[in-house]
This record gives sequence, C-alpha cells and structure tokens, in this order.
Amino acid sequence: MTSTIPISRRAFSEVYHRAGLTRPNLTDEQKAATIAGVRTLELEASKADPTRKSRISRHIERGPIGQKVKEIRGCRCQICEALGSEPIAFLRRNGRPFAEAHHVQPVSLLMAGTLAGSNIMVLCPNHHRQAHLGNFEVLEDGRHQWRISIDGRVLALPKTAL
Ligand SMILES: [Zn+2]
Ligand SMILES: [Zn+2]
Repeated sequence: MTSTIPISRRAFSEVYHRAGLTRPNLTDEQKAATIAGVRTLELEASKADPTRKSRISRHIERGPIGQKVKEIRGCRCQICEALGSEPIAFLRRNGRPFAEAHHVQPVSLLMAGTLAGSNIMVLCPNHHRQAHLGNFEVLEDGRHQWRISIDGRVLALPKTAL
C-alpha cells in the first residue's frame, strides 16, 4: 500500500519552480505521440483511477509504436486475415487503409514489455471492440505468436517484431 501526503497547489508550484522544472502542460494525446511521453503516461497510469487508466491506454494505443506495427502489417486486421475475411476495414479519405492497434497485455497493467511491438495486435475497429468487450481470450502468449479464442474459434496470430 502507498500513502500520500497532501500538498497545497502553491507549495507544489513552489517546489517545481525551485527545482527549475516547467510544469508539463502537454495533453495525454500529445504525450502519447513520443516514446518519452508514453513512458510518462505509463507512470501516471500506475497512479490513476480506472477511468483515467483506460483513457491513457487508449491514447497510447494510438501512439507511435502502434503506428509502426500497423504500417508493417499494412493495416490488415490479423483476426479477419486468420478467418479468411477481407482484412482492410476501410480506406480513409486520403486513400490509406484504417486499422487499430490493440495492446494484448493492457498498457494500464504496466507490465514490462507492454509497449513493445510484440504486444500489439493489428485489428479492424470491430474486432478491436470485440477483443475488449466480446468473447475473446488469449489462450497462449508465445514468443512469436498468440493463440486466441474468439467466439469459440481458436486462431494463431503472428506477433510483429520491430
Ligand atoms: Zn477484423
Ligand atoms: Zn485494445
């Protein structure tokens, strides 16, 4: 258990000022755009309430590492692909395919490696929601692949090395 000592806003600013620090006024979204910012967010998430935790992990999921993994996979949904369905959800107005990055081990758990490319699954928006809310289970988190169960179907999905 941790305990906190209440500190006034003024005292906090004073400490910051004396330490020569500028108050970080970046939004979560701006922080999620850089690796250093993502680490800050990870730290903040460890102390945050569940609502803020899930908001932070959503920002991180849209961040730079997820982008990289999506690029490598050509924005193809890994579940659609394994099921033999059309893996591209839709094309954006700029003609580029849309996909989402799902962290298999939730970022909010702050386990080592949650930010690594090998923890990210590329999914269409539908399968991404299903991974969070539906009958989706990771049966095995292997070195090179996951074995997952979705609506009772077992699939092997490759991990992406960065
Ligand atoms: Zn899909
Ligand atoms: Zn997700």
